[in-house]
Amino acid sequence: MMKTLCALLSKLPIKWKIMLWSTGIMCILFAVYNAAQFITLGQWLNNQERVSMQKSMAQIQEYYQEKKTVLDVDQVRNSKSYLEKIIERRQLIRILDQNGLQIIAVSNRLPDDWVPPEESYQSLFISVWHDNEHLLVLRSPIHTDHFQGTVEIVNNLETLDQISNIILVVMVIAGLGAIFFSGFGGFLLSKQLLHPIQSLVETIQNIKVKGLQERVRPMNNNDELSRLAHHFNDMMDQLETSFQQQKQFVEDASHELRTPLAIMKGHLSLLKRWGKNDPQVLEVSLDAAIQEFQRMEGIVQELLELTRSESDHPEALIEIVKPSAFVQQCVERFSSAHPNMVFETDLHFTESDAIEVVPYQLEQVLVILLDNAVKYSADNNVVRINGMKQNHFVKIRVTDSGIGIPSDELPYVFDRFYRVDKARSREGGGTGIGLAIAKRLVERNRGKITIMSKEHYGTTVTVSIPACSKTE
Ligand code: ADP
Repeated sequence: MMKTLCALLSKLPIKWKIMLWSTGIMCILFAVYNAAQFITLGQWLNNQERVSMQKSMAQIQEYYQEKKTVLDVDQVRNSKSYLEKIIERRQLIRILDQNGLQIIAVSNRLPDDWVPPEESYQSLFISVWHDNEHLLVLRSPIHTDHFQGTVEIVNNLETLDQISNIILVVMVIAGLGAIFFSGFGGFLLSKQLLHPIQSLVETIQNIKVKGLQERVRPMNNNDELSRLAHHFNDMMDQLETSFQQQKQFVEDASHELRTPLAIMKGHLSLLKRWGKNDPQVLEVSLDAAIQEFQRMEGIVQELLELTRSESDHPEALIEIVKPSAFVQQCVERFSSAHPNMVFETDLHFTESDAIEVVPYQLEQVLVILLDNAVKYSADNNVVRINGMKQNHFVKIRVTDSGIGIPSDELPYVFDRFYRVDKARSREGGGTGIGLAIAKRLVERNRGKITIMSKEHYGTTVTVSIPACSKTE
């Protein structure tokens, strides 16, 4: 039974759970509080009644004690008028002799046969019932020189019980009202609290149906749930951007691969039609096909490197590198493959300057920059490499005096497959991926890369890597 109830409760929506809990707790609180209040009040009223009966008893005792020396049965009989004067509503006063026989009885709306007379040797209260009437009896002995007996005062507690009943009814009604309002309040509160969660659930459902662009409606308050909604939206923004980037990447890559494939197809058709018998056409077409193959190979290789630069960054490969010797070595290695170019290095690093990088990644960055400087140098054959430490950053600068980049194209050169002059760049073997790889690699090494260029004057690319605080 208890188990099925728990299982049933656990299946309820949170809204109803909150409401049930708040109502249940309110119910228990009210029951305990009202019961305690009711019992205390009942006891207090009962006490008041006893005090008032004791007062009447004391008054009667005093009256008889004053006549102590002369008081006898006749005198007691004559005291009826006094008793009639002091009797209260719904009360019975009786004087009994020492055998418990009634001498006089004065009553106010309380028939004297409801309580049988009984002598008593000590003062005490007794609670008795006559049918539905609740009666309280106080008996107290009288001792005078010529008279021994008992004074009996009987009070009907009907009024007291009525008051108690009214209080009980009021408490129950007020309690039920409070429970209803607390349940209603709990319902409103849970509705208010769960509103953001509800809209989160709706948004997630919509995302499934309509796509990633769905967002939770922004809320103005700054509570935990609105922050949850805010973070959810942020997460969805990131997810959407990364999805779009992936899509863009696939589109760009397939577009880039389509060009060499189309060229190769053209040359192969040419070969099929004319080339078999014309050695000149054969030679030219095969050369062109091989060239396009090499280009495709290059694109595929660079794509792989780009993916690698995005994903892999093994911590174990990070080394503390002295920039001076490192840059010098890289430039020397690169320059040996370009005997026609002049590489001027001007490095201002001290012995203590160091950076924490993955060396092969930084070398790859420098090769990309030097390669671009050579590719786009036109007639000018001097490339300058500067190095210095500035504001806790090690800066390496590659400058050429080549064709430069128009200022409106400058913001896009770090994008994948972006080429300023498509035709010329293709001729020079450019794929438009080099700078994108360089940027990714620099960022993976916690650095920044910037480019400055003026068309027909030249280009400067600066790589800044945070200088290492630990020096050997
Ligand atoms: P690519 O393989 O085509 O050189 P990059 O990503 O390295 O691709 O460069 C993107 C574009 O930026 C190039 O197509 C080129 O037009 C331009 N660019 C890059 N470096 C230089 C430079 N040093 N001088 C002039 N233009 C450059």
